[in-house]
Amino acid sequence: MPKPSSDTVASVLQRVDAGLEQSRDRLFDLLRIPSISAQPAHKADCLRAAEWSRDQLLGLGFRAELRPTPGHPVVVAHHDGPAGYAGPHVLFYGHYDVQPVDPVELWHSPPFEPTLVDGPRGKRFVARGAVDDKGQWMMFVEALRAWHDVGGGIPARITIVLEGEEEVGSVNLEPFLRANKDDLKADLGLISDTGMWDVHTPAITTRLRGMAYIELTLKAAKRDLHSGLYGGSALNPINALAKILGDLHDENGRIQLPGFYDKVRPITNAQRAQWDALGFDEAAFLGDIGLTAPSGERGYSALERLWARPTADVNGIWGGYTAAGSKTVIAAEASAKVSFRLVSDQDPQEVFAQFQQFVNDRLPAGAIVTFDLHSGAPGMEVNSDSAWVKAALDVLTDEYGKPAILMGSGGSIPVVTSLRNVLGIDTLLMGFGLDDDQIHSPNEKFEQTCFHHGIRSHARLLAKFAGA
Ligand SMILES: [Zn+2]
Repeated sequence: MPKPSSDTVASVLQRVDAGLEQSRDRLFDLLRIPSISAQPAHKADCLRAAEWSRDQLLGLGFRAELRPTPGHPVVVAHHDGPAGYAGPHVLFYGHYDVQPVDPVELWHSPPFEPTLVDGPRGKRFVARGAVDDKGQWMMFVEALRAWHDVGGGIPARITIVLEGEEEVGSVNLEPFLRANKDDLKADLGLISDTGMWDVHTPAITTRLRGMAYIELTLKAAKRDLHSGLYGGSALNPINALAKILGDLHDENGRIQLPGFYDKVRPITNAQRAQWDALGFDEAAFLGDIGLTAPSGERGYSALERLWARPTADVNGIWGGYTAAGSKTVIAAEASAKVSFRLVSDQDPQEVFAQFQQFVNDRLPAGAIVTFDLHSGAPGMEVNSDSAWVKAALDVLTDEYGKPAILMGSGGSIPVVTSLRNVLGIDTLLMGFGLDDDQIHSPNEKFEQTCFHHGIRSHARLLAKFAGA
């Protein structure tokens, strides 16, 4: 097949515009299926959402089927693209499951009756799953549909994986990817489950923070002690633990674990300039949550700290007496939960080892400590110089008429790590959500303008893959 011409791309985009209402109607059909993966009562609905998704892809000429897992099925679909296709084999990932709807009384319309509402940015879709993630991956399907209908067919070699357990931790996904490694082999991952900077400013997310979540318990005497009889000579594990955790940061907010920053990549000047130009209002960001002064690592802006720097936070600390009044006790043990948000190539197992060394180095004589790593995910940074990041930035810039930016995200998307570990591929994160979309909350919504631009952007990206 010859490379698509600019006329072809223009007619595909026109088709997207002309078919927007039908695209929306199809999304609404999917949104009506209450595919809440966490709740056993919705098991059949999850299956129905998977079947509905499979049927859409069959209708576009994909080879599509449901594959069982110990939990909800995975939809897998393949299309070889045009004969002689020489572009990348793209693996698109989305999830058809949604979060529970509680507290349901706070919804202004029933969560599974998608509603078109007028908002300050035009029409918006209100329903559970509107943006997370049904609305986002349906943009890709609708872009494929426009190509299928007027662009001469599916223009690229594509594998689609739609998971039904993202909202319950994707426990079966990585084993599934391993078991189907040969079938899912591709050159590039593509996911639409992230956000824009704002409604006018598109973005590619190139950084996701990982996590090491650790619990520790420090023990001293074999029982709780009377602080009058033993205070002053018996080791107090709460004092000791508080002192150790107090050492986590130095006076500049630098984390003191040995080797902690070895794998943290510095922020490039170009990246810093781009983020500075966004004019992020740190005072308003903090003011929203009732804070009047910034905190954190010295020498970095708020966005840099959120997107490109690791953190250490004590999430809980307990021990001794905490009920009403006073009790003069020296506790036998003290515990804390400590989490590290990780960036770049920081590895949770390595950070776990660093933390154990940090604590052991400071452990007073007579104390023993136990550790437990609850969960871990490495930081993720996509090479922002890659050809596909550049192509996606071009696409977004063409679509929005202004430069797209490279963003970070403070949170993590575990599948990105799985795709890298199991399939050895990098992932392009091109999403169209907004900060106020209320994901996981009542009245989740997706702006129609984001949905529309998102379909068009995916249609343009497909043209890039095809070499247009
Ligand atoms: Zn979600």
